[in-house]
Amino acid sequence: MKETLKKEILRIIGEDQILYQEPMSDHTTFRVGGPAETFLIPHNEKEAAALLRLFSDCEEPFFVLGNGSNLLVSDKGYQGTVILIDRNMDGCEIRGEELTAQAGALLVRLASRAQAAGLAGLEFASGIPGTVGGAVTMNAGAYGSEIKDVVTSVRLFDAKKKEIVEIPGEDMHFSYRHSLVKEGMYTVLGAAFRLHGDDPEEILKRMEELREKRTSKQPLEYPSAGSTFKRPEGSFAGKLIEEAGLKGCRVGGAMVSEKHAGFVINEDHATAQDIITLIRKIREQVYERSGILLEPEVCMLGEDLTL
Ligand SMILES: Cc1cc2nc3c(=O)[nH]c(=O)nc-3n(C[C@H](O)[C@H](O)[C@H](O)COP(=O)(O)OP(=O)(O)OC[C@H]3O[C@@H](n4cnc5c(N)ncnc54)[C@H](O)[C@@H]3O)c2cc1C
Repeated sequence: MKETLKKEILRIIGEDQILYQEPMSDHTTFRVGGPAETFLIPHNEKEAAALLRLFSDCEEPFFVLGNGSNLLVSDKGYQGTVILIDRNMDGCEIRGEELTAQAGALLVRLASRAQAAGLAGLEFASGIPGTVGGAVTMNAGAYGSEIKDVVTSVRLFDAKKKEIVEIPGEDMHFSYRHSLVKEGMYTVLGAAFRLHGDDPEEILKRMEELREKRTSKQPLEYPSAGSTFKRPEGSFAGKLIEEAGLKGCRVGGAMVSEKHAGFVINEDHATAQDIITLIRKIREQVYERSGILLEPEVCMLGEDLTL
């Protein structure tokens, strides 16, 4: 990183908020990934927005990280700057039936807060291990509901305008595992959710039922990034992978879960290369057998992670 840029960063955050050669394996649920050249930890929205403004003005590559639960990072790491938006920005406020949260708030926590306040609508998200920022970006969803069903507006840093904007949910271009954030230079800073009143006991019951479903069907005991592939139209990735005889298939320490073929897991000290090689193999073999080309849901960071 150029000295001039470093000086600018130090005008915004303290030395202790800058890490160098930070292992990304410590920040991804896959538990793989080499070092990020520079890793910035803003303490609040003001610092995050100032950093984003700075990086939008220069040519230096940067990447916004949430909880790393949908991310595969190269073993070679990232030759750029990672800006972390997580627990330093996890504020949450409830007013009537509206819940507003900062981008770093974990969905699991929001769902619990909503439940305790007798607000229903976030039960589906109670087992998704991502932040509000990651979930809005991905339009995360489960058990028939998606973020788009509950989001009323999103607070974004717009790198083109170089300012913070509020975008109504209906203008967020939400579709299956897609949002406006993926189309351009946007960073999620927060979101508002419209929920509805219900008996907290009933909400808890629904959350527990979903948790039970998850723990019985998903290999939560292993590091992974959840479903590796998007659901192809008219079918399920896990079903196609199983039909191609790939359950339990391994490359190095990466493996197609025996419990749920839709999950590639880090079974035993896998590298990102093991995982991407297995992903390529699954795509090829499923395509040969079914004519369906699976699209990864997992985001990739690194030039050697091409399909
Ligand atoms: C065990 C397990 C189960 C899962 N189950 C589900 C499920 O049921 N449904 C589902 O949809 N997903 C599921 N996932 C995947 C993942 O949890 C979600 O996609 C989640 O929304 C990702 O959030 P994150 O904060 O971890 O994002 P990250 O993994 O950190 O980032 C994902 C992408 O979002 C971008 N991003 C993150 N934060 C921001 C921000 N503030 N502004 C702009 N861009 C940002 C990143 O740059 C990256 O491109 C699961 C994952 C695991 C490990």
